[in-house]
Amino acid sequence: SRVNAAVEAIPLYSGLSRVERVKQEKFSDLPVSEKTLDALAAADYETLTAIQTLAIPQGLRGSDALIAAPTGSGKTLCFVIPVIELLWRSRWSSLDGIGAIILTPTRELAVQIFEVVTQLLKMHHITAGLVIGGKSLATEQRHIDRANILVATPGRLLQHMDESVGFSADNLKLLVLDEADRILDLGFERTMEAILDNLSSDRQTMLFSATQTKSVKALAKLSLEDPQYIGIKQVE
Ligand code: ADP
Ligand code: MG
Repeated sequence: SRVNAAVEAIPLYSGLSRVERVKQEKFSDLPVSEKTLDALAAADYETLTAIQTLAIPQGLRGSDALIAAPTGSGKTLCFVIPVIELLWRSRWSSLDGIGAIILTPTRELAVQIFEVVTQLLKMHHITAGLVIGGKSLATEQRHIDRANILVATPGRLLQHMDESVGFSADNLKLLVLDEADRILDLGFERTMEAILDNLSSDRQTMLFSATQTKSVKALAKLSLEDPQYIGIKQVE
């Protein structure tokens, strides 16, 4: 049976100060590939969380978005599903190189996200790589050469852009900035500017941030085009 979840939209964003009621949806109702649905079912994901109900359709539609929701609300699938579906719909192959980059502040978060990406790619021929340092640049370089989706920390990604011969993100279709506020808190502002400088602006961008600081707003301005603002304060 379908239940309604009351979701209080975050009043920080103009136009999103009302309380919305979000109807709970099943993953099986999403307009996504059988391969992704099978992997979601195998991982026992059944009902979307509130932020997933609001954000996944926007992501699938190709909209740039600024998304805010508390820790534990399920933000990872808000970007992993659109990332995989975009490449699947584009019939992405190993020859097409890097189609999506997911940036997150810490190695630990990158490893967690990489596990979700790998789980949902189980039935797909799309590949993923982890770019977080700790191993030699050369070892990571070999993985990058084969990866369609990169999960990376900002410092290490920029290092590859600067130092890895042949590194190319020219085909990039989707950029995800996860926990953007923490990325900036950790002092990666200049690094982010340099990364964005290296990327074509002809792409979709999803920016996730728990807070709306001045520097997040500046990063949003730099990275997003005509974004949708999606936020929830609490999940019931
Ligand atoms: P956030 O990034 O917002 O902190 P995560 O994406 O890390 O949240 O998800 C938090 C936890 O909730 C994870 O253990 C994840 O597997 C689980 N989870 C996410 N979405 C769902 C869902 N739709 N149904 C059940 N569990 C979910
Ligand atoms: Mg998260």
